[in-house]
Amino acid sequence: MKYEIVMGLETHVRVKSETKMFCSCRNAVALAEEPNENVCGVCMGFPGMLPVLNEKIVDLAVRASNAMRMTVNEISIFDRKSYFYPDLPAGFQITQLFHPIAEHGEVKTMVDGAEKTFRIHRMHIENDAGKLVHAGSTTLLDYNRAGSPLMEIVTEPDFRSKPEVIAYLEELQKIMRWCGASDADMEKGQLRCDVNISIRPVGSDVLNNRVELKNLNSFSAIGRAIDNEFARQIEIMESGGRVTQETRGWDDEHGESRPQRSKEDAMDYRYFPEPDLPPLHVLGEFVQARLVPELPIDRRRKYLVEYKLQEDDARILSNERTLSDYYEELVALTGDPKKSCSYVTTVLFAIVLEHNARVRSEGVKSFLAVPAKELARVIELVAGDELSSTNSKAVVEELFENGGEADEIVDRLGLRQVNDTAALDAVVEQVIVEFAAQVSEYQAGKVQLFGFLVGSCMKASKGQGNPKMFTEMLKKKIG
Ligand code: ZN
Ligand code: MN
Repeated sequence: MKYEIVMGLETHVRVKSETKMFCSCRNAVALAEEPNENVCGVCMGFPGMLPVLNEKIVDLAVRASNAMRMTVNEISIFDRKSYFYPDLPAGFQITQLFHPIAEHGEVKTMVDGAEKTFRIHRMHIENDAGKLVHAGSTTLLDYNRAGSPLMEIVTEPDFRSKPEVIAYLEELQKIMRWCGASDADMEKGQLRCDVNISIRPVGSDVLNNRVELKNLNSFSAIGRAIDNEFARQIEIMESGGRVTQETRGWDDEHGESRPQRSKEDAMDYRYFPEPDLPPLHVLGEFVQARLVPELPIDRRRKYLVEYKLQEDDARILSNERTLSDYYEELVALTGDPKKSCSYVTTVLFAIVLEHNARVRSEGVKSFLAVPAKELARVIELVAGDELSSTNSKAVVEELFENGGEADEIVDRLGLRQVNDTAALDAVVEQVIVEFAAQVSEYQAGKVQLFGFLVGSCMKASKGQGNPKMFTEMLKKKIG
């Protein structure tokens, strides 16, 4: 029998705020130097301490909701989820179960060259727990992360393959960076993903018992875990068994998963409305002021369909907002998407690669040292035959290294192409006289000498003559 895999994702994304969710401790966006450095009575759960909601968290969560085309609820309510674990000193997490901040959205992405839409079921905001550090036979506790803000984003069971899951996560990462809600760096624990997996015979629409896979720490680990779980469930079904609904932890080192606990339901956590926080009211105007009109996928589609760029170029130029905005600005100035693309992805990127050290220290800013206005002028000069495309690279290089204006650089380096007919005509005449022998050989049928004659004109004009015009003039004069 043929089986298909049905998957849904639960992703925790760390909100990029300066401070934690309910106190003024520094948020663990980056890894802290020392353990238990950024802690206070609130995030340590001391008795009697009162949480105060950080407005920045709501701000960024609303931006993220808008970017995922979700409906932001006017009223959302915080709930207490009680459980005991050493990394949770309060004995409960403050989360949103019954009334989340946002619902019903979608993430569009490209999978194998085709656009796909994955539905978002809901998103709620909640605080993170601390971290257990296992060191030999002892376990240490680090509460720097306790109370850090998270967005939990739950999808519908819309995923049917590993590439779909990876594509969605990559898009989610782009969207979060694009709207500024999170850097969503998996290595830094800013994006964590659990995958719910069930299988069914192809063509069936039942949803069988699902297994929740946890502890997936990288895109490649997610891929391996999905393959492994798909095979494991098929084996159970084929041997007449039933898949147990449970949570399993993925052990990437050994390439296998192990049961962690049977799936508990909401009852076990004794959820109830958090008495220390009032309901959260998010006004329509607050939501409207945080719209994210254009997303990476919208730009990518435009670059592919309207601008007819190559797939790789369209993807690269829409991945990241600073670069994409730069490209947009360049296209607006030149009116030529393809030339603008090649000046960014080949000329500028090559220069950036040569200056790796500077790029490492300054990041994207370093190549924005070449203002779009000046790069547009370079493209215009080439299009107008005032600068050869070979020489244009030297101009961009100079702009990158020392700044300045394109026109001034072209003149200073003596690179402006001469298009003055009289001046070029004099050069051609001089070459015909100087290389009279070659001219007669050419006229006698040695056609390959034509290139030599054009080259001689270029040389005589110190590289500043327009090769196209030399070609036409020579053809007229010597046939
Ligand atoms: Zn604190
Ligand atoms: Mn959660």
